Amino acid sequence: MSKNQNKTGTYSFFNCIEKNFDKAAQFLSIEKGLLEQIKACNSVYRMHFPVKIGKEIKVIEAYRVQHSHHKLPCKGGIRYSTKVNQDEVMTLAALMTYKCAIVDVPFGGAKGGIKIDPQIISPENIEKITRRYTSELIKKNFIGPGIDVPAPDYGTGEKEMSWILDTFLSLRSGDVDALACVTGKPVSQGGVRGRKEATGLGVFYGIRELCYTKEDMYSVGLDVGLVGKKIIIQGLGNVGYHAATFFHEAGAVIIALAEREGAIYNEKGLNVSKVFLHLRNTGSILNFPEARNIENTEKALELECDILIPAALENVIHKNNANRIKAKIIGEAANGPTTPEADDILEKKGIIIVPDIYLNAGGVTVSYFEWLKNLSHVRYGRMEKKFSENMNAEFLHVIETVCKKKISSEEKKIILRGPREIDLVRSGLEDTMINGFHKIRDLKKSSKIKNMRTAAFVLAINKIIDSYEKLGIFP
Ligand code: GLU
Repeated sequence: MSKNQNKTGTYSFFNCIEKNFDKAAQFLSIEKGLLEQIKACNSVYRMHFPVKIGKEIKVIEAYRVQHSHHKLPCKGGIRYSTKVNQDEVMTLAALMTYKCAIVDVPFGGAKGGIKIDPQIISPENIEKITRRYTSELIKKNFIGPGIDVPAPDYGTGEKEMSWILDTFLSLRSGDVDALACVTGKPVSQGGVRGRKEATGLGVFYGIRELCYTKEDMYSVGLDVGLVGKKIIIQGLGNVGYHAATFFHEAGAVIIALAEREGAIYNEKGLNVSKVFLHLRNTGSILNFPEARNIENTEKALELECDILIPAALENVIHKNNANRIKAKIIGEAANGPTTPEADDILEKKGIIIVPDIYLNAGGVTVSYFEWLKNLSHVRYGRMEKKFSENMNAEFLHVIETVCKKKISSEEKKIILRGPREIDLVRSGLEDTMINGFHKIRDLKKSSKIKNMRTAAFVLAINKIIDSYEKLGIFP
């Protein structure tokens, strides 16, 4: 039994991440104590609070974990699910630390969770629970623009974030930066345009970059480019939904979509927007007219395809199904979808795994942009939009005069347009994802590291060590 296994011989989720970390640490010569400090969760706040639901008082179990304080504030989503437990929240907080380091987002990692089923609780009661949870965080100084900044995660979205903000504002009314206490807010309440789809779009940018990297594509016997690539997406929450839409729009072929109740399959490709309409109308993806149902949703992961995107929960690819995975590329849109045992099996099969700590970093990247917007108290593009438009008009005038040719009004519109908030957010995200990919890939190439996950961890550890050194905490 390895030191990462518990008494029953299985790995806890946190141990899985430690295992990945330890693999990476072998490529670095860093003092053991320092590595232990990076791995450990700095603060774990486990709470129970009562909420009156109907006529009954229910005791709610909830968590906020701050994994690392090497950069402040701490950052990470809040998840609402009956599966929430301390091990899970600790692990997800740790993943946030590494994720932020990889994409150069200056935050420590954190995560929160409330053990409830949001599907069966009324919105009024979810609001009550969210507000109470927020006031518990305020009481213990576990939330604030420079302390710890929550965001959406599995089972939460803009609505929950606006309740968190409102509760914070009512208890910290004099704080001029209060809007920055939470990200993923509606745009009308200080959110940034492009946050909602950011994780899915980041997944798209990351996989697209891989698909345009000749050497990597040839190594798995695929052509360069995204058009025509056969993709399976598991999980149609916020991340899976947007990723599916972006891949479909770019000309990839979505052959299967999997949800809790089952999966649907069409070898020729699914019309993603039609599937989502069907889902909205019937409450399920099953029985979509242009597809075949797959009753056992787990089987969808094992279908023949080029790219498999697990976009739901952790540990869906494990030692019992890894051998049957036929994808050439796995893009981890979810956090921790592959267990370490499965990782070893997939590596032997030559499958490229684009790891979660890089691939799903789009959400926190745009959260960073939102936080900056809130702290600067100005919308992106406000200062430069008109200036750029005036400059572009002058350039255009010079070009038209020199070339003695008039440009059509349609072309003019495109050329003259100054950047809007959404343009800046998306280009910032695109650049971040492209850079992150190449940093990991270059590191992998220049060392003996065999897979992207280990390279990503090495990159993250180096970044964290750097900031410890800058802080002068360790010699
Ligand atoms: N919950 C998202 C994640 O796991 C976003 C976190 C954030 O924006 O702070 O990356």
